[in-house]
Amino acid sequence: MNKITLTLGDITQVNVDAIVNAANTSLLGGGGVDGAIHRAAGPQLLAECRTLNGCRTGEAKITKGYRLPAKYVIHTPGPIWQGGNHHERELLRNSYMNSLKLAETYRCQIVAFPSISTGVYHFPLDQAAPLAIRVIQDFLRSAKVVEQVQMVCFDDGTKRAYDHALSELNES
Ligand code: ADP
Repeated sequence: MNKITLTLGDITQVNVDAIVNAANTSLLGGGGVDGAIHRAAGPQLLAECRTLNGCRTGEAKITKGYRLPAKYVIHTPGPIWQGGNHHERELLRNSYMNSLKLAETYRCQIVAFPSISTGVYHFPLDQAAPLAIRVIQDFLRSAKVVEQVQMVCFDDGTKRAYDHALSELNES
């Protein structure tokens, strides 16, 4: 059965078909999870990213995983929170959806996501978590290849927010 799982941990360590990177639009690396992924993947990742000419917010591009256990990295710049009236929710939905579509195209069965936009981009976690869980759940209903999506939470507060969102969804 297609399903969503939640784990506490470091996304650079997970052994899945594709991990998603909460990138910035340059795709040339940054802080947070982006920096961690580039450090763990090695310099060839940046070399491939340089060939991609950046990526718009809410869109997604794929590279190889190089030294990572994951075969692919799907890079998506999530929206920067600007108060909520600048299409932030729609753009965050697009980031998840376009990443999942790419995963499907590249025949990935297991995909891992970090909590996109809730770090330095300041998207409120209590809104981002239910939005992410809903879009992933909707996608999994009609997915042909993707079987499992792992939300890899880096801290307890993030894990709690996604646990809560998942239990609310299961109750509804
Ligand atoms: P954004 O710019 O999209 O907000 P950040 O990297 O600042 O991206 O934060 C997104 C989320 O990723 C935050 O919850 C942050 O704690 C988390 N994070 C940071 N490093 C890692 C990692 N190695 N694995 C998983 N999540 C991580």
